Amino acid sequence: MHRGLQAEIKRIALITLLLLVAGFMLNNVLLTLLVGGGIYMLWTFSHIARLYDWLDQGANGLPPDASGVWGDMTDHLYRMQQRNDRAKQSRRQLSERVRNITSALADGIMTLSPDRVLEWWNPAAESLLGLEKTDRGQSIINVVRDPRFVAFIQHRNLPLPVELSSPEDPSKTLMFTAAEFGDGNIILVVQDITRLRNLEQMRQDFVANISHELRTPLTVLSGYIETLQDNSDGLPTGWQKALMQMDQQTDRLNALANDLVMLSQLESNRKPPPRTQVQLTPLLEQVVKDGCMVASEKYHIFSDCHENLELRGEYKELYSAFSNLVFNAIKHNPAGVEIRVACRSTDSEIIVEVCDNGYGIDPKHIPRLTERFYRVDHSRASSTGGTGLGLAIVKHVMMRHGGTLEIQSTLGKGSCFRCHLPKPIAIA
Ligand code: ADP
Repeated sequence: MHRGLQAEIKRIALITLLLLVAGFMLNNVLLTLLVGGGIYMLWTFSHIARLYDWLDQGANGLPPDASGVWGDMTDHLYRMQQRNDRAKQSRRQLSERVRNITSALADGIMTLSPDRVLEWWNPAAESLLGLEKTDRGQSIINVVRDPRFVAFIQHRNLPLPVELSSPEDPSKTLMFTAAEFGDGNIILVVQDITRLRNLEQMRQDFVANISHELRTPLTVLSGYIETLQDNSDGLPTGWQKALMQMDQQTDRLNALANDLVMLSQLESNRKPPPRTQVQLTPLLEQVVKDGCMVASEKYHIFSDCHENLELRGEYKELYSAFSNLVFNAIKHNPAGVEIRVACRSTDSEIIVEVCDNGYGIDPKHIPRLTERFYRVDHSRASSTGGTGLGLAIVKHVMMRHGGTLEIQSTLGKGSCFRCHLPKPIAIA
């Protein structure tokens, strides 16, 4: 039993004993017991009243003096109150700290309710989006009205980040990222990526300019080399070999400059390709024909596209993507391989695949193949004359056409490069 309760029982027992003795001495036990009991109850009520007073004042300060069970209870309450105060204090400090951290951030942070209503934001969000106090409780789509943002924030699965011009300053580019927390609430992060995009633009412009500028001197060089080769009869044999190597290397440089120009055009062109009709069968037949022209007759290249399929997009870009895949299958495989260029359609897609039964690629390289200048075997790749940009070009063409590139390969068995493109919607 609790110590306070034991003391109280002892106290009641002692008082009762004293009252009984006094009752016998006064010859009226009942009256003495009643009077004594009444005084004990008054004393108890006075403790209860002081405890209520203390609780009514928010249990601030020291608790009222009490003994026995009341002393024990007040002590308990006092300790609980102190624990509560300490917890409140540390919660307050934590929320103060979080507020300080979020205020120091350059990125804007907002919390939204599950129905996309603004609940809280930090100062950076205020300056990036021009939020005002009155916006609390407003739907975020009343603040950022761009249709791309509206589609992004209303999407059930919160898709990949979206980039938009700032509603406050159109020269700024903002990136919005959203994640779900708690019970469907949303944390929305907005970053000013203007500098990053400017640097990216500078990089793209630099690559585009330098590769463009390289073309003129290369044309002049190629012209002179060709003229010298045409009149090389009188030249010593050592010079003929040198001329041949110069010719090969200028061809490589030309190919590199052309691929760089193509890639930077694809990258910098933010507009989707024109949605002109492209008949797939003749396009792939042309790709196969051009492949056969560059390959020796030992390569068996054939088209397996008999359906009358049609794509929407840019013929030149699609030709470049599919021919890159065919030239790769020729370049990176030994003579004698079979290269099949096929097409088919599903309910929603048109699939073009270029498959070979050549060397194949180790699976560890596959995720990185579409990176610029990524090559599986450097020594072999440089001897094949590849620029290392072919698959990057294919990937970009696919992206611009709303499609994807899938790569499947088994070492020693061959590779399949599959282009998944959206099927044009039939107009009734
Ligand atoms: P490259 O100019 O070297 O062909 P790509 O980006 O087109 O650059 O290809 C990247 C690498 O992928 C190549 O260097 C080659 O190692 C590998 N590769 C591409 N296609 C094939 C293929 N059909 N068979 C084997 N390896 C391939």
